[in-house]
Amino acid sequence: MSDRQYHVDGDLVPVDEATVSVRDRGFMYGDAVFETLRAYGGEVFRWAAHAERLANSAAAISLDHGLTHDELQRRIAETLRANDLRDAYVKLSITRGVQPGKLTPGTDVDPTVVIQVKPLPRGGVAADPIWDAPATLQTVKTRRIPDAALPSRAKTHNYLNGILARLELRVSDADEAVMLDGDGHLAEGATSNLFFVDGEALCTPSLDGPVLPGITREEVIDIAGEEGIPVNEGSFTLDDLRGAEEAFVTNTTWEVRPVESVDGIDVGGGPLTTLFQRVYDARVEREFYDGERLSDDGE
Ligand code: PMP
Repeated sequence: MSDRQYHVDGDLVPVDEATVSVRDRGFMYGDAVFETLRAYGGEVFRWAAHAERLANSAAAISLDHGLTHDELQRRIAETLRANDLRDAYVKLSITRGVQPGKLTPGTDVDPTVVIQVKPLPRGGVAADPIWDAPATLQTVKTRRIPDAALPSRAKTHNYLNGILARLELRVSDADEAVMLDGDGHLAEGATSNLFFVDGEALCTPSLDGPVLPGITREEVIDIAGEEGIPVNEGSFTLDDLRGAEEAFVTNTTWEVRPVESVDGIDVGGGPLTTLFQRVYDARVEREFYDGERLSDDGE
C-alpha cells in the first residue's frame, strides 16, 4: 500500500481512497481537461504556459470550472509538499463533474478536481531506466483526429486516439507512434511533438495541423531562437522524417528525447539534438536549482 496522497476536490486523501463517482462525466464521456506537469526542485516547470493551455482546453469544451490559476497552483504545491516531493510528475485533471441528465452538459457545474503526483527524478531521459535510450518510432495506421472533430489544442481526457496509436506498437515494441493527419502529413506522436533536422533548419509540424501546442515544443522553439537555429514550422511528409539527419520527440516528462529510428530506418540523434538537450537542462538547472528562481517569462 502506498502512503502517497492525492488532492481530490480540495482535500488531500490517501491514494487508495482517492476516488471519483462512476457518474462523473470525466469517467462516462471523457468530459474533462487535464495537464501533465513536471516539478523541479518543488516548483512546476512553465506553470503559466500550462495554466494558459488548461484555460484554452476548458474554453474549447465550454467548461467553466470556476477555479483560478492561483488556486490550482496552490493545490499542486500543497500536494507536492504533503508527499515530500521536489522532483515529480504531476497530473491535474478537471472534469465537468456529476450532472443529472444525459450527454448534453448542463450549465450548473460542480467540477471534480484531481491532482496526482509521483516521483520523477531529474536527469531527463537518462535518469529513468524506461527512457534510458533514444526512442524508436513507428508510423501507425491510426490517423490523428482532425481539429474540426476535436480541437487538437484542447488537452482533454479523450485520449483514445493516442491509445489506439499506442496499441499498434505492440508488435514492433516501438516506443512512440508517428501519427499522420487526414491528408497523410506528419502530425505528432501519441503523447509527444515531432522534430527533425533538415540541413541547417529545425523542422516541426505546424500548429495549423492537428497538433497539440506542446509546452516543451514551445521551449525548444525558444531555444532555437536563442541559438540562432532557423525553425521551419510547416507541413511535412513521412519521408522528410525518415530521411532526416537527426530527429527527436518532446514532451514534459521526456523533455528532449533523441529518436533512434523511424519504421526501422536509422535516424539517430546528433549535434543539434544534443544541443537542445543540453540547453533545456541548463535552463532547468539555472531556474530551479541555482537559487535564483526566475519567473515564467524569464524576468
Ligand atoms: N502531443 C500530445 C498528443 C500530448 O499528449 C503531449 C503531452 N502532453 C504532447 C504533444 C507534448 O506536450 P507537452 O510538451 O506540453 O508535454
